[in-house]
Amino acid sequence: MVAVKCRIKKDDKVKVVAGKEKGKIGKVLRVLRKRERVVVENVNFVKRHTRPSASTPRGGIVEKEAPLHWSNLMVMCDKCIHPVRVKIQRLEDGKQVRVCRKCGEVMDT
Ligand SMILES: [Zn+2]
Repeated sequence: MVAVKCRIKKDDKVKVVAGKEKGKIGKVLRVLRKRERVVVENVNFVKRHTRPSASTPRGGIVEKEAPLHWSNLMVMCDKCIHPVRVKIQRLEDGKQVRVCRKCGEVMDT
């Protein structure tokens, strides 16, 4: 098995590049590493039937973002204003940062 390293992190801006939500851009709310999935704000809404609870006393249908497989997503570079491939670069102090392959902009601060 090949270990896939996810280059998407929480609060990243990502673009959906495949699937039915293709073309949508949103902020990463959650990364589910074990499932290789990412929840993106306002993308991939699904309707869920819920039982009555404290927050929804009547129960019913709630729309919620469903996680997308991270292979369908690409990180947006603020500088390129484009979805880009990201490479990992190790700094002199051993810290790893993500760098835009296109313009060389460091994405982690
Ligand atoms: Zn860039």
